[in-house]
Amino acid sequence: MQLLENKVILITGGSRGIGAATVQKCVEYGASVAFTYKSSAEQAQKLIDELNLRFPQANIKSYASDARSGQQAAQTIEQVLKDFGKIDALVNNAGITRDNILMRLTEEQWDEVLDTNLKAVFHYCKAICRPMLKAKAGSIINITSVVGISGNAGQANYAASKAGVIGFTKSLGQELGSRNIRCNAIAPGFTETDMTTTLDETVKAKMMENIWLKRFGRADEVANAVAFLASDLSTYISGEVIKVSGGL
Ligand code: NAP
Repeated sequence: MQLLENKVILITGGSRGIGAATVQKCVEYGASVAFTYKSSAEQAQKLIDELNLRFPQANIKSYASDARSGQQAAQTIEQVLKDFGKIDALVNNAGITRDNILMRLTEEQWDEVLDTNLKAVFHYCKAICRPMLKAKAGSIINITSVVGISGNAGQANYAASKAGVIGFTKSLGQELGSRNIRCNAIAPGFTETDMTTTLDETVKAKMMENIWLKRFGRADEVANAVAFLASDLSTYISGEVIKVSGGL
């Protein structure tokens, strides 16, 4: 029996980076996977085509859906339930950065980041509550960041959104625990994806000084932690923030 056999997993922002690696890992471990993207339709289809070649029996579907919209989040969950019959785990992964020091940070940059990284988590969790309560089971996995724990100069908007995700996750875990629904967060450290490739080499070198394992993380290493929390290996784990950061 595979780790995620018979599980249906919904992942937001699955077209690239950590989300795409999570789609891949979940399929490898035997799950049926639904994932969303905002605009990368081509990349989403490419990912599905590659996985279908490697896993011809796999059930994978993508949905164009802006996580910032409550209406689109609710419609997506409804459609996934129609297409797959149930949702065992929800992974709130979609996220962006709009970095700037506070003096230069615009209200637009603040709103964009808070809406994508935090409000979207509210939208998806609110919409998944009813079906998970009915099923008396579920695992909600919210992707936060080490920056949400430590803060980071130049990322006040991002750090606030990710700290918000942690408080939200712990509160929801308390609300839903008695119904066998678990809520956890994963805090990646510096992970090599489109989000981090644009960073200045000197900033990267400075970060490396504080990483115990002396290398940056890979998206599949975060994906493995997601798979663990989505699986029945973690049935008594709720309210945790698991860092996947190489010790950062
Ligand atoms: P990424 O490579 O930039 O990918 C972001 C994904 O989110 C894409 O699939 C993107 O879809 C999707 N997305 C963005 N805005 C969206 C929206 N409004 N609606 C739906 N989907 C949306 O980022 P990543 O590095 O994999 O980051 C994934 C998560 O990990 C984020 O929450 C991020 O904050 C967190 N994280 C990353 C790192 C790191 O070092 N990379 C560290 C800590 C935490 P499109 O392709 O359509 O744009």
